[in-house]
Amino acid sequence: VWNNCLSFIEDNIASQAYKTWFEPIKAVKLTDNALSIQVPSKFFYEWLEEHYVKLLKVALNKELGATAKLVYIIKMENTYGNKQPFTEKIPSSNRSNAQQSQEVDVPLKNKSPELKNPFIIPGIRNVKIESQLNPNYNFESFLEGESNRLARSAGLAVANKPGGTSFNPLLIFGGVGLGKTHLGHAIGVEIKDKYPEKTVLYISAEKFTQQYIESVKKNNRNDFIHFYQIIDVLIVDDIQLLSGKAGTQDVFFHIFNHLHQNGKQVILTSDKAPVDMIDIEQRLLSRFKWGLSAELNHPDYDTRVAIIKNKLYRDGVEMPDDIVEFLANNIKTNIRELEGAIISLIAHSSFNKREITIELAKKIVDNYVKHIKREVSIDYIQKVVSDYFQMDVDTLQSKTRKRHIVQARQLAMFFAKKLTKASLASIGSQIGQRDHATVLHACKTVDNLSTTDKQFRKYVEDLNKKLTL
Ligand code: ADP
Ligand code: MG
Repeated sequence: VWNNCLSFIEDNIASQAYKTWFEPIKAVKLTDNALSIQVPSKFFYEWLEEHYVKLLKVALNKELGATAKLVYIIKMENTYGNKQPFTEKIPSSNRSNAQQSQEVDVPLKNKSPELKNPFIIPGIRNVKIESQLNPNYNFESFLEGESNRLARSAGLAVANKPGGTSFNPLLIFGGVGLGKTHLGHAIGVEIKDKYPEKTVLYISAEKFTQQYIESVKKNNRNDFIHFYQIIDVLIVDDIQLLSGKAGTQDVFFHIFNHLHQNGKQVILTSDKAPVDMIDIEQRLLSRFKWGLSAELNHPDYDTRVAIIKNKLYRDGVEMPDDIVEFLANNIKTNIRELEGAIISLIAHSSFNKREITIELAKKIVDNYVKHIKREVSIDYIQKVVSDYFQMDVDTLQSKTRKRHIVQARQLAMFFAKKLTKASLASIGSQIGQRDHATVLHACKTVDNLSTTDKQFRKYVEDLNKKLTL
């Protein structure tokens, strides 16, 4: 049955797409009208569902009639440390039936290791804390190379003896997309594996800040502090985001001291080295330097190739070597971009039924890299913000105190701070000759309003989309 389906499919799509997406499938079982097929990965399954579900339906209905069902079996890679590999069945009960034609909610989509949301129960001490770790971000999937050797091995040392090394805090710093978040999680995952009884918490500095602001508003700042003080291993991602936030820095300072004094491990990541962090209190900076600061550098060529191949392997996708080399040669400074280009390449080739060729790869890399690298300027931000509020840039910059104009101006300042490397003073001088304190105030106001005011949050989200697209 499956062979017949395959030849029908082969006749209907490009041969590269067929090779990529259908040859690796194994038919496993046929009972009544249900065919079970095994696919190499969850990614693979999602891809089939997204792009070939109609084709599969038609093929299957031809073979097994209108009540045909398809069951996917995903052969999972062992990505969870040393545990046994496992197979996950998706009971795809009423899939692929034109007559019934109802959309099926395939359970696996909800099973991916997504991070659960709020986890604080203020005032209760013996609460079980969800570690918020992503099990896919582990040491096994974090490939070693010259660029990350120090940081990686420091991370492993900390994971082996949390709180028991001189790497406390361990500060991992490096540019965008170089693996800070991945490594931070990996340390936590490894600790959870070795020391299941330890309370580990991963949190982004942004979320930490939101929680703190919330706690102040609800008058339970002390509960907030207590909550963090009972943690054994605290991982705070993107600590540079505390810059300019005095209240949050202050509370973090107290939490940090408490944990450190009690031999608890703190792991921090940042996109800057401590010396380059701005608007972070000196006493906090000096704490950051107590332990070890380890940098993640740009991966070298071999590491890039290894990362690409590893990703293809994990996703169960094949790609010719010359294309892999082309990608590795052309995307050098950001692993996230590299992964994005791979996905994009696979997508284009399958979607447009085209072979993966060097030409296609070139086109995608061009688009992709250009697209990402486009710097936003402060002028551009002012233009977008004033367009959004249907005013002109002069109005936005004017001295008026009309509320909606002030808000637009504050939003422009906020995004200038967020999306450019300009200093507060320079932002101020470019947006209507204000001083740095005004810009700082604007950023705080936007932060606050976007947590309290729904309409305002929508502005922030809309603008963020427009500016980062
Ligand atoms: P950052 O937090 O520094 O911006 P991330 O940790 O989000 O970067 O990494 C970006 C992407 O690159 C992630 O998908 C991550 O899994 C991948 N990545 C980074 N470093 C490695 C590595 N050494 N091996 C494999 N994948 C990596
Ligand atoms: Mg990150």
